[in-house]
Amino acid sequence: MRLVDDTLVLSPSDLTGAVACAHLTRLERLAARGELSRPERSDPVVDVLSRRGAEHEQRQLLGLAAEAGKRVVTISGAKKTRADLTALAAATERAMRDAADLIYQAAFFDGCWQGQADFLERVDRASDLGGWSYEVSDAKLARSVRATAVLQLSAYTEYVTRIQQREPENFAVLTGDGLRHTFRVRDYSAYYRGVKRRLEQVALAPPSEALETYPEPVEHCSICRWAERCESQRREDDHLSLVAHGYAPLRRLCLGSDRSCGEHAASIALRPSTCWARPLGSRPTIGKIKLGFFWSRRRECREPPLRPDQHLGAPPLPPR
Ligand code: SF4
Repeated sequence: MRLVDDTLVLSPSDLTGAVACAHLTRLERLAARGELSRPERSDPVVDVLSRRGAEHEQRQLLGLAAEAGKRVVTISGAKKTRADLTALAAATERAMRDAADLIYQAAFFDGCWQGQADFLERVDRASDLGGWSYEVSDAKLARSVRATAVLQLSAYTEYVTRIQQREPENFAVLTGDGLRHTFRVRDYSAYYRGVKRRLEQVALAPPSEALETYPEPVEHCSICRWAERCESQRREDDHLSLVAHGYAPLRRLCLGSDRSCGEHAASIALRPSTCWARPLGSRPTIGKIKLGFFWSRRRECREPPLRPDQHLGAPPLPPR
């Protein structure tokens, strides 16, 4: 996501971010608009992975181009302005109409979305272009196919469909173990449209209508550039995720939302009179959360022992 000539332009990688965390989309939008500075994250592991990813892509290119001496067209050029993006998209469309066997780094731009697919492979299936059409494939270093790859390929397929006026049957992921994984476009198009709609609700809505989000901890946090900021916010809010066993679905059930909740809210949520009346799960689970909360408070605050009459000082026994 970035501002191009004062217009917010989205890309398929934003789809993968939106799947991982809605709050990430919100922060990226603020950063793209210059309202927040985007933290730099230097991670040697990510650098190595990205270098290996580029090598894998080159190997795949050589392999695909070698098949029957294909005519390969590479799309390259600057991507800074709308004019740059429009020129690259036009070059891709020209190569498609000229029936290139393989188009490398095919670029797309529709004014709001941009994308760059690793490969467009020509297939003998008639379309608006003539007696041929194109299917998308992407090189991924991982040995298994992730949902994020499927989303990206669905986005590229949407662009290709618009140009050739015929939806491709398949797209493919070329994984790091040398295998080709082929997927039917129609099996994933509804999923793709749903994720895209959700992303646009957060990224493109006017500020007054944008969805509120909270940095609820997710798996992606471990590699996210915003991790430090989000962690500080959770600590500042005394978020229930800091409690052992305070896992997300139960937090939402306890509080009716995944917004922050301090010690007071947690104690209310875990109080028998409010908690047991709700369908929150098993009594042992609630007991575990209460115990986790108790110990995390004690450890964090380094306070003197709680008095027996204090609410959380009471042993976390489930009521009868
Ligand atoms: S650090 Fe975690 S919660 Fe924050 S934006 Fe990244 S993924 Fe989302």
